[in-house]
Amino acid sequence: MASKAESAPARKEGMYDVVMRQFEAAADIMKLDPGVRKILSKTNTEIVVHFPVRLDNGKIEVFTGYRVQHNNALGPYKGGLRYHSTVDIDGARALAIWMTWKTSLAGLPYGGAKGGIHLNPKEYSKNELERITRRFTYALGDNIGPDLDIPAPDVNTNPQIMAWIADTFSSTKSPSTRFANLHVVTGKPIGAGGLAGRDRATGFGVVANLKAWSKLTNNPLKGMRFTVQGFGNVGYWTAHFLLKEGATLIAVQDATATLHNPKGIDPEALNAHSEANGRNIQGFKGAAEMDPKEFWALDCDIVVPAALGNQITEENAGSIKAKVVAEGANGPTDIQGEQILLKNGVHIIPDILCNSGGVIGSYYEWLQNKRAEIWKIEEVLEMIHDKIETSFNQVVETAKEFKVDWRMSAYIVALRRLETTYMERGIFP
Ligand code: GLU
Repeated sequence: MASKAESAPARKEGMYDVVMRQFEAAADIMKLDPGVRKILSKTNTEIVVHFPVRLDNGKIEVFTGYRVQHNNALGPYKGGLRYHSTVDIDGARALAIWMTWKTSLAGLPYGGAKGGIHLNPKEYSKNELERITRRFTYALGDNIGPDLDIPAPDVNTNPQIMAWIADTFSSTKSPSTRFANLHVVTGKPIGAGGLAGRDRATGFGVVANLKAWSKLTNNPLKGMRFTVQGFGNVGYWTAHFLLKEGATLIAVQDATATLHNPKGIDPEALNAHSEANGRNIQGFKGAAEMDPKEFWALDCDIVVPAALGNQITEENAGSIKAKVVAEGANGPTDIQGEQILLKNGVHIIPDILCNSGGVIGSYYEWLQNKRAEIWKIEEVLEMIHDKIETSFNQVVETAKEFKVDWRMSAYIVALRRLETTYMERGIFP
């Protein structure tokens, strides 16, 4: 019988093809320097580790973990770790590349990386997940570090997992460097050096983008109806903040169920239910279950994909009735899906802009740690809001300049900054 770690084969999401096609298109339009284009079309470093862990039943399991470091021209590598059965080298590459564009667009002093472990975390106990995490950290060794590569939460990872990474990483180094080394990850719990507001930063950023979109297009968020795919950290917090703007959550989809209530779903109650139910939404009393295939076609104003990549495709894009798709996930819309949305006049706030609140929050956590300070949540959220607004306006302006859609324009802004850095600094030796 296949072991737990091997039982879920990696599904080819094709995200790498999507990110590369987006990159090539943007590089053509902006006439990116050919040398820089060559550099950015490859990942700098790709780490694959196989590591053993003893499970609660006494048996040994060998897991596969990844960390792909795409580019560090602007600063240390930065990006999340996901624990999921779709984690593979192609996906990690694509997601690392998206991080490079995201940090560049946000004006942060970071490069891009991504990684994770190929497993379904729901199949393991908390103790097993702790041992898996600690052993993965140990296997990554000095390939990560507070000034080299700084992981953070992503799909199915959370502050607790970041705390185990920080503790393992710093405990395996000289005690004299313990406190500096605790900052090897962001998204830590507050007591372990985390930042007030980092937990909600991505969803807060999605809504900051929607507020900027609403102002630009004269579409008040008050009274709008929205749907969310994925009810993890990003989905929940986006719903939380959109409700504060007067919008109504009418449907939520996750891997276990699709829930619908045209009168409105209470995100707080749904989050409490999901929390108590192994982070699954199925069985929630405040909405009816509906056919998952009908989800995208629901009559609404805003669609927030906040789960995995390649969800909006040619199969469902044509049925989307919303005015705007706010990409909380990374790579949720594939090339064909995007063409259909654009043709139908649906605005897309692209992932590298829309979900950048998370890594912006991470930057402030890192800075807070470096300065040995402790900041208030209000200050943090205001700083994230300002950065998002600046990036949003830059993307809108650049779209006008090049007569392109917002994704292309976001790429152009990100690539321009990287190009300038390479031009100014040159290539060693
Ligand atoms: N995983 C998040 C992302 O995809 C956050 C990354 C970070 O904070 O480094 O942007």
